Amino acid sequence: MIEKFIRDVPDFPKPGIVFKDITPLLQSEEGLRHTIERLAEVVDPDSYDLVCGIESRGFIFGTALARHVDKGFIPIRKPGKLPWKTAAESYELEYGTDTIEIHTDACEGRRVLMVDDLLATGGTMQAGLKLVRRVGGEPVACAFVLELGFLPGREKLGAIPVHALLRVE
Ligand code: IMP
Repeated sequence: MIEKFIRDVPDFPKPGIVFKDITPLLQSEEGLRHTIERLAEVVDPDSYDLVCGIESRGFIFGTALARHVDKGFIPIRKPGKLPWKTAAESYELEYGTDTIEIHTDACEGRRVLMVDDLLATGGTMQAGLKLVRRVGGEPVACAFVLELGFLPGREKLGAIPVHALLRVE
């Protein structure tokens, strides 16, 4: 079901990369409903208090899921976007580094479900997990719509349960 709404875009954002475009999935009422319902099933909502989404596509699925299971949502954002006190974490990219931030009062003492659209190398989610833990939250699981199965992303995330609705090879 999800597979038919994922579009491969060759050479985006740069030559040699085949980008997985999830906009057809969002555009479809059936696809979006199915995706959010599945995310609500793969991790028991009783096991978490908050949903955390990573900018920017993690916001779309994370917020829709949070509303669906009647929880709050916390954003992890690119640098300089969050207005209050922040904690920051940098991580390696293929060329260079990237940084993400969280509000220091986002999730202290709360159980957090981590959500993003896609798991590739795992660097983004690994940094997200560090941030949530640093500000006193307890990540209970990671949920992705898509996992690139040919990359070792999962191994980077340690012992935490990792769920992907669709794994592509
Ligand atoms: P990672 O840090 O290498 O696991 O990359 C995952 C992050 O990059 C996620 O936040 C994704 O939104 C984004 N990303 C990487 N490749 C793609 C893609 O093909 N489609 C959509 N997002 C991607």
